[in-house]
Amino acid sequence: MNDEPKLTDRQQQILDSMRSALGSIPIASRSCGDCAKCCEGWLSGEVYGHDFYPGNPCFFLEKTCSIYKDRPVDPCRNFKCNWLSEDVFPMWMKPSLINAIIIKKQNKNMSYYEIEPAGDIDTIDSKTLNWLVKWAANTGSNIQYRIDGEIKRIGLPEFIKM
Ligand code: SF4
Ligand code: SF4
Repeated sequence: MNDEPKLTDRQQQILDSMRSALGSIPIASRSCGDCAKCCEGWLSGEVYGHDFYPGNPCFFLEKTCSIYKDRPVDPCRNFKCNWLSEDVFPMWMKPSLINAIIIKKQNKNMSYYEIEPAGDIDTIDSKTLNWLVKWAANTGSNIQYRIDGEIKRIGLPEFIKM
């Protein structure tokens, strides 16, 4: 099945403004389920006195979160990766399946998507990268990713120079 978006420019504009209005609300058809990529030492934070940071998973992470019902609001409940909050990214791009997390970020007036390899992996797979490169070209989106630890950018010239 071809997962690539086939929206016209006008449809994409409408979709973008609707998403912007909705913010980062998770879409109904998606849930974290058994994914715990953001707890595996990709995000930085502190939970009940235990720090976690890149390379150091959360103290409460077993196969999934061992304190799920009691997890704190910040950072746990507040954090939603953009696979969870935007259905533009296909189901097969769930972080637990591609070992990478997609996050929308803002730098000055420039918004972009950062695709970070999760855990101790330092690159993203070619299927994911090919999809993202085509998607960025079709939608005019800015994306930042890493290959073998090196940061790469696709998008507006001012974003690439950023
Ligand atoms: S990486 Fe995304 S889908 Fe996975 S647990 Fe975190 S918020 Fe949920
Ligand atoms: S407390 Fe649970 S949800 Fe929060 S970072 Fe740790 S494992 Fe993840």
